[in-house]
Amino acid sequence: MRLFSSEGDTVELPPGHRFPMAKYARVRDELRREHPALVHEASRASWEDLSLAHDAGYLAAVRDGTLAAAEVRRLGLPWSDALVARSRRSTGGTLAALGWAMEHGAAGHLAGGTHHAFRDRGEGFCVFNDLAAAALVARRDHGVRRLAVVDLDVHQGNGTAALLRGDPGVFTLSLHGAKNYPFQKEVSSLDVELPDGCEDAEYLRALDAALEVVAAHRPELVLYQAGVDALAGDRLGRLALTHEGLSRRDARVFELTARLHVPLVVTLGGGYGRDIESTIAAHASVYRGLVERLR
Ligand SMILES: [Zn+2]
Repeated sequence: MRLFSSEGDTVELPPGHRFPMAKYARVRDELRREHPALVHEASRASWEDLSLAHDAGYLAAVRDGTLAAAEVRRLGLPWSDALVARSRRSTGGTLAALGWAMEHGAAGHLAGGTHHAFRDRGEGFCVFNDLAAAALVARRDHGVRRLAVVDLDVHQGNGTAALLRGDPGVFTLSLHGAKNYPFQKEVSSLDVELPDGCEDAEYLRALDAALEVVAAHRPELVLYQAGVDALAGDRLGRLALTHEGLSRRDARVFELTARLHVPLVVTLGGGYGRDIESTIAAHASVYRGLVERLR
């Protein structure tokens, strides 16, 4: 088991910016304190690996800082050299976790899960789509023919769905809030829409049914987007899961990969709690659960 961090590149956002950038270092610090030998620093993804998931023109515009103002607005993060470096490293962390998981069974990335990035554009705080890049690297470098993306962030994995659609070997599951961003949804292999205020029992019932469909696809690898923004009290969430509900959710995914005997890569995803401490605790708990179950 290894946990990869992307904190080798960080971004300073303007004061009052609504994206909680500080959470990544806090989650890394917690896990490193508890499991110092497990946490490793990832390197930046190469432009070549990124080009598996993204158009050359988009990559050049990100690299050179020539995105149009409207594109930067849609992204929700101001462009900077640091953002480019961080975004490359954030995909690199998921690719490092993939490499480790393919050899040893499971790994986590303490960032990533940037599922709103499309082939030719970023949006919703996501510059590059690490999940799509990992799926395509798994195919190119590891001979993986069939894989599943299990996206349990409260927002639909629209970029991942669009990027990987049409690839019959890839199953994309997105369990998300029906009334939440993105308001124009893409089509995943399976989309499960949940009502505002959805609580643990209803959520876990829907998840159990969805994971059986994932199992029927017979994936050889699972990429898990473990966003915690379905938690009650999330500013951008609208659902009402408890911390215990989230842990039971994660356990379902861990059990699935154990049952199928396939590698698992865990990425961090969204979390925007009114109380950021609650969000950080929830993110850390995902990886604690992974370490406990699959060490
Ligand atoms: Zn989200």
